[in-house]
Amino acid sequence: MDLLYISGSGRSGSTLVERLLHASQRFVAVGEFHVLWRLPHDQITCSCGARLPDDPFWQPVLASAGIGAPEIAELARLEARVARTGRIAAAGFSLDRLRDDPEVTAFLAPQLAILAAVARAAGRDIVVDSSKAGPRAFVMATLAASHSVHLWRHPTAVIASWRSKKFDQGLGTLMARPGIPAAAADWWKVEQLARRLAREAPVAMVDYDRLCADPAPVLAQALAAAGIAGDAGIPWADSHSVVAGAHYHSLNGNPDRFDRGPIRVAARSVDWSKQSAADRLLVPAAGALLGALYPRPG
Ligand SMILES: [Zn+2]
Repeated sequence: MDLLYISGSGRSGSTLVERLLHASQRFVAVGEFHVLWRLPHDQITCSCGARLPDDPFWQPVLASAGIGAPEIAELARLEARVARTGRIAAAGFSLDRLRDDPEVTAFLAPQLAILAAVARAAGRDIVVDSSKAGPRAFVMATLAASHSVHLWRHPTAVIASWRSKKFDQGLGTLMARPGIPAAAADWWKVEQLARRLAREAPVAMVDYDRLCADPAPVLAQALAAAGIAGDAGIPWADSHSVVAGAHYHSLNGNPDRFDRGPIRVAARSVDWSKQSAADRLLVPAAGALLGALYPRPG
């Protein structure tokens, strides 16, 4: 079993990428895997529509991995200790030093058991975790069979997307709308860690706009850069659409994961007419500043 970890700010295309990969017979997407211990299970709605405690895929997977409530509680406790920027900085951003950390090992062992059970149940070789978080990208990169993809989307578009209203079918409410400073900080933090990780291990940097313009070659190039050899096996129906993969049990993430139709790749542009006058002024200013700090990759 190999792991493909997708990092990036919210609203940068991670759900799109995991859905495209899941359409292939090589990949199984689990969504934002870390919600498994971050959220109460009766509040998690799988992309198949089931609540986690009733999920026909996840319940046998967790049982076969030997994971119950005590292990889930321990994962939450350990994550709060090890998947922290401060802890990673204290290890000098060294993957070797993190590998030698017994708490990192203890945090990873049950996850490996679950991810291996996922691969077995799905009959696929590569599990896609699109948790997105930057510290988690570092911790998961310590695994031997781990591959990293980082999604970069222009911060103006990301912040504007956060500021627009979006309904979350999984939670049954509108998605949270963070303020400009919080959205900017989220973008900056994950970008900073991804660029630091790229100095320690291969990280395939993917530009969201390029991906949307020409998805098949950009994704193929990204997988090769992440160290995944061979054809991705994504069954493209035409240059910008793919028939969605079956048995999709993605935990959390963008509401698009509930779509059942073909996956259509199209860049979502900002509808400035729906933004407030203040946002029309401040979002591009914040975005320009961040974009200058961490410019478009490639
Ligand atoms: Zn499910």
